[in-house]
Amino acid sequence: MKESAAINKNINQLFQILSEYYGDSILRNGWQGNKSWWQANSAFELMVGSILVQNTNWRNVDSALRNFEENLNPEFVLSISNEELAQVIRPAGFQNQKAKKLKALCEWFQIYNFDTEEVSKKSTTDLRKELLSIKGVGNETADAILVYVLNKTSFVIDAYTRRIFTRFGFDVPKNYDSFQKMIEEALPCDIITYDYYHGLMVEHAKGFCNKTPKCEDCPLGKKCKKLEV
Ligand code: SF4
Repeated sequence: MKESAAINKNINQLFQILSEYYGDSILRNGWQGNKSWWQANSAFELMVGSILVQNTNWRNVDSALRNFEENLNPEFVLSISNEELAQVIRPAGFQNQKAKKLKALCEWFQIYNFDTEEVSKKSTTDLRKELLSIKGVGNETADAILVYVLNKTSFVIDAYTRRIFTRFGFDVPKNYDSFQKMIEEALPCDIITYDYYHGLMVEHAKGFCNKTPKCEDCPLGKKCKKLEV
């Protein structure tokens, strides 16, 4: 078997085992009324969450989101000063930096009249370039917005994915795009898969494959090489 075919097979096997283990348990109410790994009431809540979650945990993000009360919309974000916005999002930490990032994201969203359908008319490649040109939006944030807000297939790579794949025994490319390509080439290119499989990585890293892994009860245990990271 050619090397790439073997890699694809192993990637599918990893996700298959996790899918069988977690099933639908990780799916919640998505903002489009669908089942999604990422629970949100609106596209904008999700966009804000994708910035706020940088360098913190979801509990802090939820506190910051609640501080918006009835004002979780881009018009509000653009109408207040950076200092006021920083106070609202304070529970998520790095509030001054994140306030600037949120403003920049909203200014970009305004070009499309805050309409995700308008944004989605563009190609994935063009949108990814646009998102990456926004101050404070890196690869992971851009891909999270593409998948969870815009229904574009651009697999989200995060530190959890990198950790699980490395420990499992894959030769994980250091470069984000190369690692993403490796996963995307192995998977069916559809939004439901991309949404769910990224969710599997997050849930599994939190439940088992955290800094000190709980290998004994891990569903990947028999296949995993348990390499040190
Ligand atoms: S067996 Fe251990 S190292 Fe491998 S995925 Fe599970 S928890 Fe992580």
